[in-house]
Amino acid sequence: MITLRYAAGSDVGRVRQGNEDAAYAGARLLAVADGMGGHVGGEVASAAAITAVAALDREQPDDLVATAEAGVRQANQRLRELVEEDPSLTGMGTTLTLMLWDGPRVALAHIGDSRAYLLRDGDLYQITYDHTLVQTLMDDGRITAEEAARHPHRSILLQVLDGGDNPDPDLSLRDAEVGDRYLLCSDGLSGVVEAERLRQVLAEVDDLDEVTRRLIELACEAGGPDNITCVVADVVEGPGSDTPVTVGAAVPS
Ligand code: MG
Repeated sequence: MITLRYAAGSDVGRVRQGNEDAAYAGARLLAVADGMGGHVGGEVASAAAITAVAALDREQPDDLVATAEAGVRQANQRLRELVEEDPSLTGMGTTLTLMLWDGPRVALAHIGDSRAYLLRDGDLYQITYDHTLVQTLMDDGRITAEEAARHPHRSILLQVLDGGDNPDPDLSLRDAEVGDRYLLCSDGLSGVVEAERLRQVLAEVDDLDEVTRRLIELACEAGGPDNITCVVADVVEGPGSDTPVTVGAAVPS
């Protein structure tokens, strides 16, 4: 039987006052959300999105991709309701990157600039596409990856989950292999730690809790300008982790 071993960590970083990231890891579901919006909006948005999609962890869906997409829509609907109940939350939004598992198959749903990576046979692959202005400029050949990393508008998102009418997540179905290691993270990690450093930690550190600690440490050493959240999971044969983990703003206070 193919299962997941997982760990998750979240840290406020070195600059921010509060943590607007949230994440969930369970036997079937991995998810990261990075909230934004004035006052408490960011925390509310990411926590609501993670709480809404966490229900997917208990389902055994026929159609993985459709179920993942429905989860994103439910999260979006929840944000809309929250703003209707409390107009001071207007303008809040969140990224959402989630992976929904059924044995060796996994659906990936993604909106925003959080990321998912796959480490396979020692190589690291980014398997999500950033919905950012700088990614578009890179696609058009107008700036290089190095320029994007320092671009003054690098935080501008072109898509986000905000309770709007037609959320349009990227959706895909993938095959997972025993030995694969997945990382989901917020831009507080991927924005300040180079992919090669991520690859090294993922390839060299066995223990998943230790991996999350090391990744957060690297982001903090790089200045920790933003909240830092990561979920790591190994695809294994035999028993996996069995206790769901929630971190960041989604933890009930
Ligand atoms: Mg962030």
